[in-house]
Amino acid sequence: MAALPPSRIVAIYPGSFDPITNGHLDLISRGSKLADRLIVAVLQNQRKQSLFTVAERVEMLTEVVKPYANVEVGSFHGLLVDYVAARGANFILRGIRAISDYEYELQIAHMNRLLSPGVETVFLMAAEAYSFVSSQLVKEVASLGGNVSGLVPPLIEERLKSRVAK
Ligand code: ADP
Repeated sequence: MAALPPSRIVAIYPGSFDPITNGHLDLISRGSKLADRLIVAVLQNQRKQSLFTVAERVEMLTEVVKPYANVEVGSFHGLLVDYVAARGANFILRGIRAISDYEYELQIAHMNRLLSPGVETVFLMAAEAYSFVSSQLVKEVASLGGNVSGLVPPLIEERLKSRVAK
């Protein structure tokens, strides 16, 4: 019997990443072990007020994912499933922190399945230590002068400090 051709897993990890936290990074690290190629993709969303521009977020992500050889960074607007097809990907990676993420993530995953039946959404849980970490909370704490070291990579901590000081 002929050997099956190896199936390649190309996954897109979409999000706002405004900015990337250690929770995101933990997910990227786990995802990079599952996928042959993992593309972290910043969503260009006009409706969401952001602290960092898309270009800044892409630049920060690119720096932070450098240690992972099979991880790259991109950005997209419009439908995620269109970006998935354009990049030749077959999986979407999303993270679940707590039950509160589940309902929203389930809705999006079902919608994406309807729009593109061949693409699977895979959920990973970040380490418990990051289960409470969100970009929103990190921005709030940083803007009030709180210490966010350990919650974001050191480079992001610096960038946050100088941005909120403005
Ligand atoms: P979005 O605006 O699409 O929710 P985010 O940048 O906030 O973008 O998050 C991107 C993905 O990463 C989402 O699936 C979110 O649930 C997941 N995520 C965010 N923070 C964490 C964390 N601390 N642990 C696990 N998953 C996370």
